[in-house]
Amino acid sequence: MGLRTSPWTVSRCAIHVGRGRPVSDPAELITLLMLERPLCLDCISDQANLSSEDTKRRVETIGRTIEIHAGEDRCGSCGRFRTLFSLRPFER
Ligand SMILES: [Zn+2]
Repeated sequence: MGLRTSPWTVSRCAIHVGRGRPVSDPAELITLLMLERPLCLDCISDQANLSSEDTKRRVETIGRTIEIHAGEDRCGSCGRFRTLFSLRPFER
């Protein structure tokens, strides 16, 4: 028979975020994570599957293009009180 095709062929590193759009670019994924809710660096690196060093560098790089808000609060994911990063201003 002809070519073996599978309807389930999906990029290995595609991660579904938000509206189910596959995201494979780490910088884009980090941006989306920070847009969704304020997260600490550990949780961002966890969810983006990057080392914390790599995550920190990427957050800094993204911060040169778009404004990233940093503030002390309870992390939306791990619940610990830490420095969080968000694309929205922190509301008190
Ligand atoms: Zn966290």
